Amino acid sequence: MEALKMYIGGKLYSGHGRGYTNFEPANGNPFHTVSTADPSDFERVLESSRQGQKEWAEMMPVERGRILRKTADLLRLYNDELAELEARDTGKPISETLVVDIVSGADCLEYFGGIAAGIEGEYMDLGGDFAYIRREPLGVCGGIGAWNYPLQIACWKSAPALACGNSMIFKPSEMTPVSAVKLAEIYSEAGLPDGVFNVIHGDAEIGKMMVAHPDIAKISLTGEVGTGKAIMKNAAHTLKHITLELGGKSPIVVFDDADIEEAVYGAMLGNFYTQGEICSNGTRVYVHKSVKKLFIEKLVEETRKLKIGNPLDPKTQVGALISEDHFRKVMGYIDWAKINEVELIIGGERFHVPDCKDGYFVEPTVFVGKSDDLKIVKEEIFGPVMTILEFEEEDEVIERANNTPYGLSAGVFTRDLRRGHRVSNKLEAGICWINTYNITPVEIPFGGYKNSGLGRENGWAAIDHYTQRKTVYVAMEKMQNPFE
Ligand code: NAD
Repeated sequence: MEALKMYIGGKLYSGHGRGYTNFEPANGNPFHTVSTADPSDFERVLESSRQGQKEWAEMMPVERGRILRKTADLLRLYNDELAELEARDTGKPISETLVVDIVSGADCLEYFGGIAAGIEGEYMDLGGDFAYIRREPLGVCGGIGAWNYPLQIACWKSAPALACGNSMIFKPSEMTPVSAVKLAEIYSEAGLPDGVFNVIHGDAEIGKMMVAHPDIAKISLTGEVGTGKAIMKNAAHTLKHITLELGGKSPIVVFDDADIEEAVYGAMLGNFYTQGEICSNGTRVYVHKSVKKLFIEKLVEETRKLKIGNPLDPKTQVGALISEDHFRKVMGYIDWAKINEVELIIGGERFHVPDCKDGYFVEPTVFVGKSDDLKIVKEEIFGPVMTILEFEEEDEVIERANNTPYGLSAGVFTRDLRRGHRVSNKLEAGICWINTYNITPVEIPFGGYKNSGLGRENGWAAIDHYTQRKTVYVAMEKMQNPFE
């Protein structure tokens, strides 16, 4: 078992907290002994981040961009090694991490590396006098990550923060602490000045310290709705900027004119990828009454083919859930549905993988619900559990799709161009996909409506969330005594 340190001031650093052991979800084996931060380490990381930020903000933006783009190149160079670590840490299939997790992080660094030198201010002519508006960094920012896409989340938060001249203290989820440290080492290798990207380990207590500290100007969280609300409340004491990327219970609407094969693939991608542990998953699948039978037949045929297995086997398509607690939570929903006689179409059991005896594997599971008022239709399960619901009218399905406190994403499958746009316009979600699902390239803003979050990650929108505008008014005439 390896020791995993923190990363402060350009070096690996042993924290003085109690530490803990993290486990590989696929087999329950201890993975790392993780060193954690205590309050004295926290002061140290803050000092390092304050210093790093000053130096970083004084560099030419084009130089900052070059370092971010170099980091992207190095991430791609180390892709396979990082993909294996990420698969072991999260339990998700290496067939995914090899082509998505690291690559999307690298894309994000490349994108914001390109933008760094293009962040412009504004100028306003005031009839002789004038004003200009600078976009200044916020200072030291805090990133707090979830466990489902650890490296991607670290990149999605740090790349825009750094492009704008901030430094970042990143706390990965305590369940998946490994890849953030690797990212920090790669940033240093690419030439990032010490202290600009620091990593500390620990649980919610360290997260709370970050949120409470007056010297941290912004917190960006990826996590549960409850955590987002707690952070918003705690951030009020120091009036911090916050970005919250939270949970969801998103709808996918399949109209009678949809290409059913396409809709089935969309629903599978939006429910079973990363064994269902994706915030934007479309777990309420509304299918028009006239195509429901066809949709279910095709879905069952395709779902049956999915290979559940050891995440490190390149053929595996569905890996292990993150932890025993989470496994129990997901199985709890499945058992609730079975006890309450919700129709089970496929799956619904723990899956035993011979070479991963203690792994938390769950079969891709599909229920058909008779009402939207079921617990499995209302609450985020965050596992491979889909519920199909029947509808007949467009207005009806829009109302039902929107009848949730969440609003992260939505999908519409139809061949009718006008209907695709009309329905998307009416869905209360931060991102809508037409005839596809869960595609999130860095160029487009990502984030939630309603309880699914605040602020946006990715795209130019992220720049707004990592800068503050300063207006400078310049007088061109001699100042007169205003009281004369
Ligand atoms: P979580 O909310 O339990 O934890 C997220 C992070 O917050 C962890 O690092 C944790 O240590 C920290 N934390 C917990 N309580 C805190 C507090 N009071 N103050 C400060 N920090 C605190 O979430 P999770 O279980 O790691 O992740 C799963 C959740 O994340 C799901 O709800 C999922 O939908 C959501 N998620 C959202 C997105 C998105 O982009 N919208 C992406 C991935 C996951």
